[in-house]
Order: sequence, then structure tokens, then C-alpha cells
Amino acid sequence: MKINVLTLFPEMFTAVTGSILGRACEKGIITFNFINIRDFSNDKHKKVDDYPFGGGPGMVMMADPIFGALNSIDARGKKILYMSPRGNILDQTKIQQLAEEEELTILCGHYEGVDQRVLDHFDMEEVSIGDYILTGGELPAMVLIDTVARLIPGVLAGEDSATEESIYSGLLEYPQYTKPRSYEGMDVPEILVGGNHKLIYLWKFEQSLRLTRELRPDLFEDFVKNSKKLTKDEHKVLEKVLK
Ligand code: SAM
Repeated sequence: MKINVLTLFPEMFTAVTGSILGRACEKGIITFNFINIRDFSNDKHKKVDDYPFGGGPGMVMMADPIFGALNSIDARGKKILYMSPRGNILDQTKIQQLAEEEELTILCGHYEGVDQRVLDHFDMEEVSIGDYILTGGELPAMVLIDTVARLIPGVLAGEDSATEESIYSGLLEYPQYTKPRSYEGMDVPEILVGGNHKLIYLWKFEQSLRLTRELRPDLFEDFVKNSKKLTKDEHKVLEKVLK
């Protein structure tokens, strides 16, 4: 996947291009193209923002430098996302859709946002990471990139790593334990060290169901509604939890 990021602060993205995503880049699975919008300002002071017409607080990012940046990558007609608190909130369904794309272009806003004509002309999709306001679109873009990238085959060491996480399966993740087996008088549940893979799987499934019902009743309700594809054993566990 190719990911173009238009930003005033390209240096912030070293936070996501190291580690796992760095290895994905080395393997050629992901290619990043960070474009500094300021490089496309025709102003002698490299200004990229101005006062909003009609008044109001703060400054607005001007259309011209962003047009220049987007034209430099021939972005017209491509999937372009604008990180924006006005957008639909990013969820796992959306992330899975985005992971199917060959190329993504992400615009990071700053100040009070960007001139509306940019969004209209390039038919951008606004995407929010939650009902709160950040100073700029860089952190939201990093959240999006990280979550999308981990679904691209080859990015994580084992493919199951992505699909076994909370939310992906519709349930929250079961409790996890590692060595030592006994710590400060607290023991790892016996079933996890018994070696019976089927019993371990059903224990994890039951824990996921119980946790989801307690912490995210909305997800639990959806899971129960869509529970037709469960195996006989999984159904028995679900019945037990529902009692
Ligand atoms: N005036 C804008 C409004 O009320 O909708 C908020 C501008 S915000 C201070 C500056 C930039 O941060 C936005 O252009 C956007 O790119 C980014 N941003 C802020 N909160 C966000 C969120 N929850 N999700 C995605 N992007 C966000």
C-alpha cells in the first residue's frame, strides 16, 4: 500500500515509521510519501494560513498550497481522507475497508481547519478519531495509519495477531497471562496450563463473552444477534453466559 500524507509537520511521523511499520517499509509492503504542504506555498514567507472570511476565531489553511501538494501527486480521483472532527468516527469496519486500498492519501489539518474548497474539489472523505478536538490532524492520521497497516498481510509477524485482538472478532479480548505461573500469590488459571487446546479455546471464548457483556453491552448485543455462525460448543458457552 502506498500512503501519501500531507502535513505541515512531516517530522512528527517518525513516531509511526519505526518499529513494525519500519520493517513493513523495508519489506516493501508499505511505502510512505510525506509531503510538506509548506513547500507548496507561493508566499515569500511560506505562509499557509489566513483569516477566515466572515470572521471567527483562528486561522484557516489556504487552498492554494494544498492544491499544489495534491496536484504534485496527481491525487484527483484518488481516495483522499481529511482527518476532521466532523467526519464519521473511525471504527474497525472502516479500517478493514481502508486496508483493502492500494493507495491512501491523508490530509492533516491545523489551526481551525482547511478552506472548504479543498474538500469539495478533491471530494475528500472526512474521518474523525473521536468526539474531541486535537490541535492538528497528525496524531489522528497516525492512529489511522497504525490501525490500517496492521491489517495488511505481512505487516505483523503472525496473521492471527491482527484478527485475535479485541473488537476485530466482535468481542473484547480474554485476559492474558505470561511467566511466572505464580506471582505474589496469584496463580494463572489452571486451564491455561493444562495443554487441552479445545478447553483453552472455549475458556478464552467464555472470558471474552463475559468481559464484553460487562464492559461493552452494545458489542455483546450485536454479537448475540449475529451468533448464527457459532459452533455447537461455542453455542453451549454462549447459553451458559446468557443464563
Ligand atoms: N475548527 C475545527 C472544528 O471545529 O471542526 C477543528 C480544528 S482542529 C483544532 C485542527 C485540525 O486537527 C483539524 O483540521 C483536523 O485535521 C484535526 N483534528 C482535530 N480533532 C480531530 C479529530 N477528533 N479527529 C480527526 N482530526 C482531528
